[in-house]
Amino acid sequence: MSRGPVAVVRFSSLGDVLLAAHVPSFLKRAIPDAATLFVTKGRYATVLAGHPDLDGLLLLDDGSSADDAVRADDAWTGPPILARGALPDLAAGLRAAGADTVMDLHGNLRSAALRRAVGGARVVRAPKHGLRRRLMVHAKWIHTRPVPPLLRSYRSLAGLPPDASLRPWLRDAITAEDRARAADARSSLAPGGFAVYGVGARWATKRWPLRHFVALARAVEREAGLAPRFALTPGEPGTEAALDALLGAGFAHEAVTLDLRALAALASDAAVLVSNDSAVLHLGPALGVPAFGLFGSTVPAFGFARQGPRDAVGEIPLPCRPCGVHGRDRCPLGHHACMESLTPEIALDTLRPLLATVAAA
Ligand code: SF4
Repeated sequence: MSRGPVAVVRFSSLGDVLLAAHVPSFLKRAIPDAATLFVTKGRYATVLAGHPDLDGLLLLDDGSSADDAVRADDAWTGPPILARGALPDLAAGLRAAGADTVMDLHGNLRSAALRRAVGGARVVRAPKHGLRRRLMVHAKWIHTRPVPPLLRSYRSLAGLPPDASLRPWLRDAITAEDRARAADARSSLAPGGFAVYGVGARWATKRWPLRHFVALARAVEREAGLAPRFALTPGEPGTEAALDALLGAGFAHEAVTLDLRALAALASDAAVLVSNDSAVLHLGPALGVPAFGLFGSTVPAFGFARQGPRDAVGEIPLPCRPCGVHGRDRCPLGHHACMESLTPEIALDTLRPLLATVAAA
């Protein structure tokens, strides 16, 4: 591995960026004196602010309003922004920084164009696994090996053993401002005395029914004494109104809508994070909090689960699973049994061993 600046490329999406953001920490462990750069869309800059192992950011302008947060903000306290703009601007920024290794974790046409434009730099490409995932969806009669958890592959790419310990980089990046925005949601909760439930997800087929979440949370509260906080991020589909109706009078404080960094501040003190297969699930390894993923139309074998040493999943076997690589707007069979029939009791049975490790910690 080179001792020059290493640029990690992952443009999107949020969950993938949260996982890819472990790589600078892996690199610093493998090559302590290496400089690490991260290339992503402007909208994700604020997520990476304060990353303890990042030496610079290069931001692809994607026209999102979140770009404005770092565009001319004197209060920006994140890693130095070395370049911002279109691909040629980022390539020029990488050349000016002397990046001699580009780790392409995205593997799409855009990242290939960036690699070519940088020129001369050594290229390390993460395996894409797209074909394996599509075979799992469309050719179920073929036995396809599961994709290993992504962070195992990323450790290997960085030159570490695949089971090397994870640095909870986001925990170290949380600011007093992030905690202040989470203060209302956090009030009256003891550290380690509550569970956060990530009840949203972009795709409908990835959403566990809200009534299941609430029933599971009540059972966890009874068995393990963990108070619940049901979390959505702004704009995340999850129907706040339906959640309020389910919780009923006197329990509205258990539903919280927080931006991702404030949610991270809240979850960093939780005993466990329970979530749909969404970006919120990937807060777990970034915070060092055990994560329990609920899988419906997607499967853990895609490589997006069990990233942390105590992580676990809830799922049921169905011949139609998985029915898509990403998720869908509706169940093609109309019954959504992958989530409807994954009852709170089944989920609790697989969550219990994790809760025991939390209690013992
Ligand atoms: S029940 Fe089957 S077909 Fe329907 S969303 Fe779930 S996995 Fe897909």
